[in-house]
Order: sequence, then C-alpha cells, then structure tokens
Amino acid sequence: MKILVINCGSSSLKYQLFDMENESVSAKGLVDRIGIDGSNITHRKTGAEPFTITTPIKDHKVAMKLVLEALLDKEHGVLKSLDEISAAGHRIVSGGDLYKESVLVDDKVMDGLRQCIPLAPLHNPGHIMGIEAIQHALPKLPNVTVFDTAFHQTMPDYAYMYGLPWEFYETHRVRRYGAHGTSHHFVALRTAEILGKPLSELKMVTCHLGNGSSISAVKNGKCIDTSMGLTPLAGVLMGTRTGDMDPACVPFVQNITKYSADEMNNFMNKKSGLLGISGVSSDLRDVEEAAHKGNERAQLAINMLEYGISKYIGAYTVAMGGLDVIVFTAGIGENSAETREGVCKKLEFMGVKIDSEKNRVRGKEAIVSTDDSKVKVLVVPTNEELMIARETKRIVFGN
Ligand code: AMP
Repeated sequence: MKILVINCGSSSLKYQLFDMENESVSAKGLVDRIGIDGSNITHRKTGAEPFTITTPIKDHKVAMKLVLEALLDKEHGVLKSLDEISAAGHRIVSGGDLYKESVLVDDKVMDGLRQCIPLAPLHNPGHIMGIEAIQHALPKLPNVTVFDTAFHQTMPDYAYMYGLPWEFYETHRVRRYGAHGTSHHFVALRTAEILGKPLSELKMVTCHLGNGSSISAVKNGKCIDTSMGLTPLAGVLMGTRTGDMDPACVPFVQNITKYSADEMNNFMNKKSGLLGISGVSSDLRDVEEAAHKGNERAQLAINMLEYGISKYIGAYTVAMGGLDVIVFTAGIGENSAETREGVCKKLEFMGVKIDSEKNRVRGKEAIVSTDDSKVKVLVVPTNEELMIARETKRIVFGN
C-alpha cells in the first residue's frame, strides 16, 4: 500500500510517498515558488540523485500535476500507475476546536478548513489548495487531513482558556490550541514503545525544540497542556519568536515604534527570540559557537532558552502530579546535547539524572538518563510525515 503525504503551503508543496509495507519512503520532493518567478520542482527517488526542473508553475494544480508526473517518470519515478496510490494524507496546521482527530475529507471538512482560516491565515489556505489540486488530478483518491492541533484537543478548559472576557472565546474562539501535535503524538507513542511500557501509564513531557518550539504535558497518552497558544508565538524562546512575555509589552512597544498590528506581529515572530537577544543568529548552532567564544548576549539567549524549558517541565510535572519521562525531539532536541544537559541539570532535585556520555548522541533514538535516574530522559527523532501516513492508513483502511 502506497500513501502520498502532502504538506502544502501558499507557495510550496512538499511530498513523500510511503510504502506502508515497511513504512519506508519511496520518493520525496518539493515544489517551490508556486505562482512566483523561478518556480521549480526537486524530486528524489530514494537512493538516487535528486533532479530539479525549473519551469513556470502558476498554481497548485500545475504543481500537483508535476508531482504525479515525477512519481511516474521512467527514470526518476517509483510508480507504474497512479492507481498504486491508495490515499493521500495532508498536514493541516489548524483544525481549531472542530477536529479532535484526523478525518476523511468531504465537502463538510473542506468547509471546516475554511472556517479555521482565521486561526492559521498563512497556512490553511495553502492546505486547502493542495487538497483541491489532488482532488482535481485524482478525483477517486481518498484524502485524509491530519491536524497539528488535534492531539492538543484533550486539554481541559482551565488549561486552554485565556483570562479574556468570555465573549472572545464564544464568538471568536480565542483560546490555546497548541501546535506540533503530530510530532508530540509520534514521539509519545515511540517513547512508550522504547520503554516497553503502556502509554496509558506514563506521565511524560515532550519537548519539540526546533526553529519553533513547543512543550507538552502528556498524561496517560493524552495531552493535558501545551506551551504554544492561539498561535505558535507562545511558550519558550525560539529562533526568531519571543515566546511568552507580558501581553502589555505589545502596546508598550507599539507606542514606541508606531508599528501597526501586523508589523508588531512580524517583529515578535521574525526579529525576536535567539536572534533578537543574541544579535548573532536564529540558529542555535551559531549562538552556541558565539557563546563558547565569550559572547555574553549569546550566552544570555542560551540561558533564557534552558531556563524557560526547565520551567515548563517543572510546571507540567505539577499539572500531571508527577513525571516519568522527558522526551527531546526536533532540530535542537535531537542534536543539542548542551541544551538537553543544561535543562536536565536544573531538574536534578526532581530525580532527573542525565548521563553526559550517553547524552553525546545526535539525531538518534537513545535513553540519555542514568540507569538509576527516577525520571527517564529520551531523545526520539520525530517523523511527522510517517505519523501522517499512519493516520491516513488508519482512517481509510482501519488498523
Ligand atoms: P527544526 O526546526 O526542527 O528543523 O530545527 C532547526 C534548528 O535546530 C536549527 O535552527 C538549529 O537551531 C537547531 N540545530 C540543528 N542542529 C543542531 C546542533 N547540532 N546543535 C544545536 N542546534 C542544532
């Protein structure tokens, strides 16, 4: 069984074709700059060299046609017929509070995705265009939407509500939704497998730390709190995003800069975080290197990051009434031994003991706590695409 996983933005389309017999990727690629000068497709059959075609790609329908042609290509393709594709799974950034799990696409779901546009104005329109494009090319193919927000829909109301007047929730759905849910779900499931314990018996904090970072409290397999909010700006310090701060900073800075709401949003999302504090880079590798050379602002950015993560883990330990496992994933979580060690050292009083030797791992599954650590610490590389492929298979064909 072959499943096509699609992550479609407003001007890009990423895809992976999974062979579900062994959950391997047969081919993947990216269509970039859709509707913009210099549009191109880069396609790669697993084990072969990638190839790129630069050609005008006016919209998502043309992009999808090129993807399907690439999959069928005599030299670079992996399919003899498009009938070999059993279903498509689509990554959706926000399903608001309409979707608690993945769903099979029908007209009602397409309406639901449109209703959620105000919650993800930069992402959901692209997702919708991606679905429409494959429906146009392959009208009989089942499509499944897998929502970044769905895993967080189990949060209790007192965790997701903000202290704004009630009408803002009732009328405008202003609340915490969270993000990276597919990743948190994937690593939570995998962690239980690695530890050989039922997920339903574990109190876990999953730390997805990348350019965007979010931390979730996963109690007995269900998310009960998460650090991102209405939008992915909340939580810990990120590459270019502020993370949490007093909301009154917003009008305060606007009064000084005279930024409009959109300009202010851009300032908090693109100019802040590791980049804004260190003045060096949004990439933690560069910030770590600068800190090693004595750059004090770079060191401050690192201190803020590690302090923020450890505070969330402490808070979520209270929220869950205990802690069995901490899981690190995504670019920083999988690769930065320094960040993992810095965070875990602050949690020693809670029974977290990191093993510096074991922690030298990068991008690989590993238990990095000492054998006698009360709380286990794991590195688990995330795989959101595989999770989407599995969800698509489950929804269309059952387990
Ligand atoms: P992601 O958004 O998950 O792709 O994560 C990207 C981020 O991971 C980069 O911007 C870096 O900050 C971070 N990263 C990747 N490799 C390393 C590394 N070896 N050490 C520290 N940070 C890393």
